[in-house]
Amino acid sequence: MAARILNGNQIRDQIYGELAGEIASLAASGIRPGLAAVLVGDNPASKLYVNSKIAACGKLGLASFMLTPPASISTKELLALVDELNGRDDVDGILVQMPLPSQVDAKKILDAVDSAKDVDGFHPVNVGRLVAGRPNLVACTPAGVMEILKRSGIPIEGANAVVMGRSDIVGKPMALLLLHANATVTICHSKTRDLRETVRRADIVVAAMGRAAMVTQDYIRPGATVIDVGQNVITDAAEAQRIFGNFPEKLESFQTKGSVLVGDVHPDVVQTAGAFTPVPGGVGPLTIALLMSNTVRAARLRRGRASSASSASAGVQS
Ligand code: NAP
Repeated sequence: MAARILNGNQIRDQIYGELAGEIASLAASGIRPGLAAVLVGDNPASKLYVNSKIAACGKLGLASFMLTPPASISTKELLALVDELNGRDDVDGILVQMPLPSQVDAKKILDAVDSAKDVDGFHPVNVGRLVAGRPNLVACTPAGVMEILKRSGIPIEGANAVVMGRSDIVGKPMALLLLHANATVTICHSKTRDLRETVRRADIVVAAMGRAAMVTQDYIRPGATVIDVGQNVITDAAEAQRIFGNFPEKLESFQTKGSVLVGDVHPDVVQTAGAFTPVPGGVGPLTIALLMSNTVRAARLRRGRASSASSASAGVQS
């Protein structure tokens, strides 16, 4: 039987609906949360990501500020820009789009963002708060995965959860969020032995490796919930055929566009899993929704305002 599809667009819209009420109540007190996005240089993928974040701000009525320094910017100049944003009262959230040019010390830049405005949740203070179980601002993609699981009624407490990938922005915070929700968590990475057997024990699998369609049906216990964080662009026709042999509409789209997006999970897993996030339309929309949610949250927290019980918060209220 084919898996239940966990529709990220629907969950995003639900979160936007809740945020609209919160934004209106802040507006009634004269507060308009604002997001500043720093886009260095002209990497086309980064431009696309930042534009969609700015568009989401517009849709929700948040203020947004786009800063576009040239690719030649130095660490010192970028630090000065971040410092200026830290001091602005109309800026509640700051995001510095990665990757940065090689001459810029990215760690220094991320550490310089005021942790109260760190809506990406990358600052060591926010990572530490997450480890301690007292999170304020949590990395958007893993927080989005938690919203998918919770709002889809997937049982987490006591479940065996396997996180594939241990990056600072996805795998590690993902594992911590699942742990705080009382799952029994295993983290896998490129040196994990018996990867397939380990993943096969999971009730919940979160795949975040950046390896196109690597997780095939034989990795998945029948009925497990499979969350696919991966976003890989396929441009090779033979690879597209290998992955999408059972999905003629995807192959047609590949032939028209010359590329197709695939996650880290093979699409045939839909036949084995109990529930499954598609790519696109699964985790992706939640990443932006949680960025919006974090911006509203930062605006509230900076002004000492209590949390709204309804809004997305990775399951932890301030
Ligand atoms: P990353 O920094 O490259 O980390 C990849 C992780 O996967 C590493 O921990 C690596 O292990 C592990 N890994 C790689 N190959 C493996 C293998 N063959 N077996 C087991 N583990 C393996 O990637 P990331 O930034 O976390 O992103 C992961 C994926 O999520 C990418 O496809 C990215 O595009 C996508 N993503 C999507 C969103 C979204 O909004 N949907 C947001 C962020 C990222 P080691 O640590 O041992 O090297």
